Amino acid sequence: MPEQKPYRLPANVIPERYEIKLTPDLAAATFAGEQKVFVQVLDPVRQIVVNAAELQFQAIAIRGPGGEVVLGSTVLDGENERAAFNFAETLNPGPWELEIKFSGILNDKLHGFYRSTYKGPDGQERTLASTQFESTDARRAFPCWDEPAFKAVFQVTLVVDEKSTAISNARTVRETPLAGTGKKAVVFADTIKMSTYLVAFIVGEFEGTEPVMAGGAPLRVCAVPGKRHLAKFAQDIGGFSLSFFSGYYDIAYPGDKLDLIAIPDFASGAMENLGAITFRETALLVDEQKATRAELERVADVVSHENAHMWFGDLVTMKWWNGLWLNEAFATFMEMVAVDAWKPEWRRWDSFTVSRAAAMQIDGLKSTRPIEFPVERPEEAAGMFDVLTYEKGASVLRMLEQYLGAEAFRDGIRLYLRRHAYANAETTDLWDALEESTRQPARALMDSWIFQPGHPLVSVEQDGGSLVLSQRMFRYLQDGDIPERRFHVPIFLRIAAKGKVRNQTLLLIDGQTRVDLPDEVDWLVVNAGGHGFYRVRYSGKLMAALKSGLQSNLLPVERFNLVNDSWATTLASLTSLTDYLGLIDLLRDETDINVWTTVIMSCHHLHRIFDDAQERLFQERIRAIFNPALARLTWLPKDGESELERQLRGELIGALGTLADDKACQERARELYARYEKDPNAVERNLVPALVAIVAHTGSGADYEKFYAKFKNAQTPQEETRYLFALGAFCQPDLIDRTLNMTVDGEVRTQNAPYLMRGILLNKAGRERAWSFMKAHWQEMLRRYPDNSIPRMCEGIIGLASPELEIDVKEFFAKHPVKQGAKQMEQHLERLRIAVACKERWKELLRQ
Ligand SMILES: [Zn+2]
Repeated sequence: MPEQKPYRLPANVIPERYEIKLTPDLAAATFAGEQKVFVQVLDPVRQIVVNAAELQFQAIAIRGPGGEVVLGSTVLDGENERAAFNFAETLNPGPWELEIKFSGILNDKLHGFYRSTYKGPDGQERTLASTQFESTDARRAFPCWDEPAFKAVFQVTLVVDEKSTAISNARTVRETPLAGTGKKAVVFADTIKMSTYLVAFIVGEFEGTEPVMAGGAPLRVCAVPGKRHLAKFAQDIGGFSLSFFSGYYDIAYPGDKLDLIAIPDFASGAMENLGAITFRETALLVDEQKATRAELERVADVVSHENAHMWFGDLVTMKWWNGLWLNEAFATFMEMVAVDAWKPEWRRWDSFTVSRAAAMQIDGLKSTRPIEFPVERPEEAAGMFDVLTYEKGASVLRMLEQYLGAEAFRDGIRLYLRRHAYANAETTDLWDALEESTRQPARALMDSWIFQPGHPLVSVEQDGGSLVLSQRMFRYLQDGDIPERRFHVPIFLRIAAKGKVRNQTLLLIDGQTRVDLPDEVDWLVVNAGGHGFYRVRYSGKLMAALKSGLQSNLLPVERFNLVNDSWATTLASLTSLTDYLGLIDLLRDETDINVWTTVIMSCHHLHRIFDDAQERLFQERIRAIFNPALARLTWLPKDGESELERQLRGELIGALGTLADDKACQERARELYARYEKDPNAVERNLVPALVAIVAHTGSGADYEKFYAKFKNAQTPQEETRYLFALGAFCQPDLIDRTLNMTVDGEVRTQNAPYLMRGILLNKAGRERAWSFMKAHWQEMLRRYPDNSIPRMCEGIIGLASPELEIDVKEFFAKHPVKQGAKQMEQHLERLRIAVACKERWKELLRQ
């Protein structure tokens, strides 16, 4: 037999059906399991190898096609998370039934089968158990072939307390009381053929909404007692998006019911278990009357994203983890399509530019990576859950969709899903389907974006009667060799000449191409509509033409890109900071929330690197931009304004009162906050986060006490996180220390503590204390926090923008490598390098 890699299972025994019975004991934090797996033995074997981690085995037996029973023994391989079952006799090819008795632990690390605690309406602490299996933690709950390509049918039975609710992937078939035990057996129907990482068990006290029918299945939202009143919004978008997707994909929802379940402790945002999607509470439960538009959008996004996975991911699954982008980029893309159809007034594709920009920010680093790359060990997949997989992946799909046409693209997707339903697929299968259905060269175009890291900078110049477009790799750091990579760049042109506007699409494949221009060009936009995943740099004359008609000639998305690309080239020292500041000076009349978001983000970056003297002049300068914009918008909401304008008011006030340190704004914000405290309806809801941020930024010990109490007694998940993160935005050293202690003393859930820590690292007033604290508590944090949150927490080091701190940071991480996210750590360190390089380059600027 060929030598097997220890992290891949032999394929000589294939699971077809699991019958799993689990009896969790919430108080003792353990569970007992009995399991039958119907397998096909393909070659004669005396050993069956499966995945298992932190499980103990009590009995193994296998029953043959003729009814003969062979007993087995177990050898555990902890390092490779495997168990080998050895049998006394050879098992001949054919169908066998593997029977296993085992037990395991309900852990507190928010993976596998784990415990979550919360306070009930009576104030008493309660416990529930839930699962989180992606990528490779199903093996902590039951022994299994824990690779996505080993799809099987799962029939689950959960034995739970009589009062408890048990939820799994399929509908409940029956509940049988077990006399004299105080328990009942909840038996669930068979699932579709699916991967192990999508199995789910949830046990505890839950309340569900009345189900609504959507996409042919009953859909409800479940939460711990006392929170059902926060479920309606999620149920609305859940129902809409499930029906929407069954239409878009032209395939019925593959499950027999759908529960959207809020779990008080949850490591990521949500998890697409077929029929039993789990969420952190802020991503599902929301008070529609009190939440901001951004908070509502987040719920709509996450619910739609997970629902999109029921087809993309659950029905058709990647063969191996290298294809994770097929799941995640598509779900992110489809989330936009659905939310845009649900609430067009939110202009969701416009705000997607902010996500695209976040991906480009990482993708311009030397330490970026291709969207898809070879993954050997499954743990390498852990590093793939990042903006490159999700946001860059979704961006290049959007670019392709716009290039091929939305309908042609959709037809290709339908073909792909039909062809690979209940099975697995690879990237190449998607291009096959798209090429077959559109008759266009999708593969050549997309391979350059999926398998190459980075993205191009397209330079644009006018040379007499023609336009010269050239591409080269974009990089923030200019040191070292920048590799020459070519992309198939869809160029969307809009050209105005003699008052007439025309559009043109072409593909830039070579280093350079020329396009004939009409006579007397007034202005032109490259990347019209803003869907391209590349940066554009105009020559001086073309840029001047754009600047003189920013509001009249450019769409908001195009203005966003102009500002964002200029900021990127400024960081890359291809544009001077003076020129960049000159560009944002022109934005006093800007009305688009996303354009402001990118301006404010660039200001945060500058705030982190300027010294006090520079900062004072910088603040003066940005006050002169933000104040007129706010004056036009006014502090008080106006009749007939859009929700986006209300959100913009909040963003501008927040930036003025914190970043720009505007005293008048701070005073007025405090007054308004005092009014809000007396009457929560006195202030428009989109303004509240800004007021909270300003009170914290300028806050005293008394304010801190108030916010702390608000955090402890919050009425909604959004309010809880708002006040919690505000505790990290105070500036007084003693208050910062208090919040730092909360990150490790059990006061803050481990699902939030790492992000609170990141926030303090990014708070200029708290960053040095936070860094010392993190170093001192490093081992404790590694032990307590969910694995996936460690590299995310460390993103905060980009705030440590001084040459001395940079040296210290580098030394620390050289000694303490973050094994859960080596790539992300490299990226954080490179971003810190860029910030420190800019600090040195700009040290003479903004001085009197
Ligand atoms: Zn996803």
